[in-house]
Amino acid sequence: MSDVPRIYPSRPVESTEPARDLRAELNAEQAAAATFPSGPLLIIAGAGTGKTRTLTYRVADLLQRGIPAERILLLTFTRRASQEMLSRVERLVGSASRQVHGGTFHSTGHRLLRRFGASAGVPSDFTIMDQGDAEDLMQLSRASLGVADAKKKRFPKKETLHYIYSRHINTEIPIEEIIGAEYPPFLEYVEAITRIYADYTERKATRNLVDYDDLLLFWLAMLEGSDSLGSRIAGLYDHVLVDEYQDTNTLQARILSAMCRGHGNLSVVGDDAQSIYAFRGASFRNILDFPRSFPDTTIVTLEENYRSVQPILDVSNTLISRAAERYTKNLWTKREGGEKPWLVSVQDEPQQTRFVVERILELHEQGMPLREMSVLFRAGYMSADLEIELTNRKIPFDKWGGLKFLEAAHVKDILAFLRVLENPRDEVSWYRILMLLPGIGDSTARGLMEGLQEQAWHPDAFQRIVPPARAREAHTALGTLLHRLRTTDDTPGAVAREISRIRTLYDDILKEKYDHPDSRLSDLEQLQGIAGGYPSRGAFLSAIALEPPQSTQDLGSGAEDDETDTLVLSTVHSAKGKEWDAVFLIWAVDGYFPMSRSIGNEEELEEERRLMYVAMTRARNHLAVTYPLHSYGSRRGADYSIDQLSRFLDREVRGQMERVVPQFDALPDTPAEPSAGVDLRAVMRGRFRGGGTGGR
Ligand code: ATP
Ligand code: MG
Repeated sequence: MSDVPRIYPSRPVESTEPARDLRAELNAEQAAAATFPSGPLLIIAGAGTGKTRTLTYRVADLLQRGIPAERILLLTFTRRASQEMLSRVERLVGSASRQVHGGTFHSTGHRLLRRFGASAGVPSDFTIMDQGDAEDLMQLSRASLGVADAKKKRFPKKETLHYIYSRHINTEIPIEEIIGAEYPPFLEYVEAITRIYADYTERKATRNLVDYDDLLLFWLAMLEGSDSLGSRIAGLYDHVLVDEYQDTNTLQARILSAMCRGHGNLSVVGDDAQSIYAFRGASFRNILDFPRSFPDTTIVTLEENYRSVQPILDVSNTLISRAAERYTKNLWTKREGGEKPWLVSVQDEPQQTRFVVERILELHEQGMPLREMSVLFRAGYMSADLEIELTNRKIPFDKWGGLKFLEAAHVKDILAFLRVLENPRDEVSWYRILMLLPGIGDSTARGLMEGLQEQAWHPDAFQRIVPPARAREAHTALGTLLHRLRTTDDTPGAVAREISRIRTLYDDILKEKYDHPDSRLSDLEQLQGIAGGYPSRGAFLSAIALEPPQSTQDLGSGAEDDETDTLVLSTVHSAKGKEWDAVFLIWAVDGYFPMSRSIGNEEELEEERRLMYVAMTRARNHLAVTYPLHSYGSRRGADYSIDQLSRFLDREVRGQMERVVPQFDALPDTPAEPSAGVDLRAVMRGRFRGGGTGGR
């Protein structure tokens, strides 16, 4: 590998059009970054300044310079983001771009591990565990070591054990230090916890299971391990580009450094003020330290915002100016005019819902497509009331983040069957299946699994085990099913047919075990439909473990239809990097945003503030922040509470917003027929201006 990129014909061979002047579509700083020759490059800049656009143009420029597409790696935070960027690149320079490797860190680690893992001791038929599976395996380790039972005192739960483990892997902070800082009462168990982690690691190895963190860990290990394998992997690419770098962690920084050791061609973009994944081990220090980790880094900063009108930027700038630490500067735009963001107080949740829905209809009436609007919230469950109302009013919406389909117990049950077929050593899935069966409890299940282990997890081991009498019937039923499923079928639609066979046993269990069986059964129909689109069981299991669909639309056809006019409901985390004409931020209430658990922790509060900054800076022309004055429910232990506006919307921030108090007519008990001559739309228009101060 040389330091200088290879020179090929200067534009894609099949293109007959003159090379497009990409620089003309960027400002001077963006253009300099996009056409930057080679070496480490850092673009650090605020929201909406064109970081993602610049990175996209940089990929296009590399292609125009003749770098072969398959030697470019583009790392993004979601699959959706990389698809969007690459289809934009294609529009700029043509289909030559299709071979660019794009994806998340985890999906790239997965691809490399399947390809090269075998030579490093990870047979390529491994199965991926999601977080829930990893926690279950942690529980099996904990139980088998008997650590928890030996002590009567409180011992960390499986979720906590997994969290500490994952944090240790991603941040490289010693376990004892993490426990000392976050769970001091558990310090006395450090030794026991470390033993659990050793057992967990050993279990994964002997069962050929891989958790999310392993995808990064093994990637790094392959790079840093044997010289020849490491050089082969690092030699795959001539240029590596990363979007949203502020949300990467120490482990990812080391991977990048090892990937680029031969050429140093690493371009990263990000905004420290939008770092919102500390809970997964990310740190904005990573982006600030970039120039130290990569000497000779060229730094580009951008300040002109192309997204939002100035009044939205004013509010966002003031909000983030309160942050304790910050590198990126205030944003400004040349866009003139624009309305002040609205601060909307409503009585309660139903009124909030009503305001949002009616305002959406009003904007829609004025010609704004639904897909140009979004409703954002701090956590997935906060949109429940709104979802019901949108459904009633037949307003199509798509929900991002907080989707629980694949986490639902019945869906995981079916996946467990598929997984033991794929990897007979998958202990977590065996345990899950066995516990479903009548007559089998924890100790029988673990006894049966010992039997499997004694027979080295042979695919037919299960049928050979002699079960205790009470489990005999269940054992026969499962054994017969597995035997029938083992016949290899690689014709199209095989995975869907397997699910259908599994359901001959499973549907009765589902009806017995869970409430609302009908809707659960229809979930399984849907799962079967999705599975039908995959070429093999392995491909299906990897895809859904790694890139869980973000929205119900993703679950449908797989391909997104840009033409459908659908409103977006999203958690703020899942809205990262996106933009809409109108954005509604609901539940701007202390305890909801910031979330109550972060109150009292300085660092978490800072992250909540950055999160609100991310939310506000998604809006181009209209931003409405709503807060109910009262809420029902058991928050803070009370049935009913009077809420306070989010602490982030302090006096100065509020001063730059327009106060809006919607005036609602009482809803009639029975919906009345609209009488002729009354223009309902006219009644709706302007209803939100009742309590306005200042502004128009
Ligand atoms: P975020 O921090 O939210 O990820 P970003 O810095 O990545 O934002 P982009 O999403 O790339 O910003 O750009 C924001 C908007 O501004 C996009 O609609 C983009 O097309 C537009 N834009 C950026 N630069 C220019 C430019 N030079 N000319 C015209 N439009 C631009
Ligand atoms: Mg971006």
